[in-house]
Parts: sequence; structure tokens; C-alpha cells
Amino acid sequence: MIKKKSRDEIKRMRKAGHIVALVHAEIKDKLKAGMTTKDLDDIAMDVIHKNKAIPTFLGYNGFPASICTSVNEQIVHGIPSKDVILEEGDIISVDVGATYGGLVGDSAWTHPVGQISEEKQRLLKVTEESLFAGLQYMKDGCVLDDVQKAIEAVANREKLGIVRQYGGHGVGHVMHEEPFVFNYSVGNMLPLKSGMTIAIEPMLNLGGDDVIVMPDKWTVVTKDKQPSAHFEHTVLVTEDGPDILTKLMEE
Ligand code: MG
Ligand code: MG
Repeated sequence: MIKKKSRDEIKRMRKAGHIVALVHAEIKDKLKAGMTTKDLDDIAMDVIHKNKAIPTFLGYNGFPASICTSVNEQIVHGIPSKDVILEEGDIISVDVGATYGGLVGDSAWTHPVGQISEEKQRLLKVTEESLFAGLQYMKDGCVLDDVQKAIEAVANREKLGIVRQYGGHGVGHVMHEEPFVFNYSVGNMLPLKSGMTIAIEPMLNLGGDDVIVMPDKWTVVTKDKQPSAHFEHTVLVTEDGPDILTKLMEE
């Protein structure tokens, strides 16, 4: 059952999304080689608390931090650590969730650390492009598979691997609501309707599709150790098109 959100619920989700966007902006601004992924978690925790929100991920199924930090071949769910030191040429996917007034915003971005290779630059550019290609179908009259198909088309055009086991999801009162959103076409004809709020989140790989979960039971990596990127927005379906909730609100 997919519940549409009321005007008041959307207002709170927009604020949650704003706080998530603030975290991303702060991390983008401060990120540099020599920092640890724990430093990034501290930045996130600080911004979330200052804005009277709750870090959604902390304690979620036992997750021990407020953000996920996934470096290079790590795809998602990397655990921030003071032992993981970022180096020039790395890419890092930062996934952030904030709960405000009981409603959740969820968004991920992959950042370069200093100068990165051309192949990594292409991976980041194309993964972000695939997110926007998909979310343009988040409007009344489209079906979920329009979104999935659009993401897959961009990945296929660039011969990038598509992570099959993880994907987008409805979001709102909890982080993971129905429906699940694949990053490739599965023929799901679910009609998209105004008031639905869904996180769209392609994860694309420079190599193949296959993934492994590490012994920490969280960190997901590519089997071939090729780099992976992850871009995500929480989006409201409207009659006019997508309304991205995880962006900075105009003050
Ligand atoms: Mg996320
Ligand atoms: Mg998500």
C-alpha cells in the first residue's frame, strides 16, 4: 500500500530534505585528502543536530553511524571509521538521512577527493545523469518502469554495470516504504500519482554488476573491485513533474 503524503507531511519532508542537503553541502565544502570517513560522520551529526533533526541511519537495523561512507569499489552502506583515511584520487559516496517532525529525507552523492581519473569522472557524471534521467518521469501519468527504464538506458549507453540488489524506495514516515525501485526495467506498471514520495538512487559501476557484502555485514562492494558511484534524491510526484525534496530550500 503506497500512501500519498499530505501537504503538512510534505512540508516536513521538505525541511528534512533541506537538512540533508545542508549536510551534503558542508561535506562537499570540507572534503579533502587526509580526512577520515569518521570526520565526515562528525560533520553530518553536527549539522543534523543543529537543525533539530534526527540522523535516520543511526541505529537503523543496528547501523552504527549517522551517514554511510563508501569509498571507491564500495557501493553502499560503508561504515564511517577513523581508520579510513581519504586519499587524493579516491571517490566517496556519502548517503545521508535526516528525520524532521517524524518525516524522512534521504539523499546520496558521490564526491571526488581532489583530482580523480577520467574514468572516475565519467562514472560520476553518468551516474548523476542517470538519476536525473529517471526522476524526470516522476509525474502523474507515468509508471514506475518509466523511471527504471530511463536509468538503465543511460547505464547501458555508457556500458556501466548496474547494481541489481539495491535500489530506490518509497520514503516518508520511515526510510523504506513501498514501492521498491529497481535501477533497470522490470516492467513494473505501477502508476505514479501526485503526493507519492520516492527516493530514486542509481548505483552504477565501472565494471560488472556483481556485488559482495563484506564480513562487517554492511559494506557492499563490487565483486571485480571496480569503482562504483551512487546518486540519490527524495522526490515528490506532482502533476507538473518531479519536485526534488532533498535540496536546499530558499530562505
Ligand atoms: Mg540514501
Ligand atoms: Mg535511499
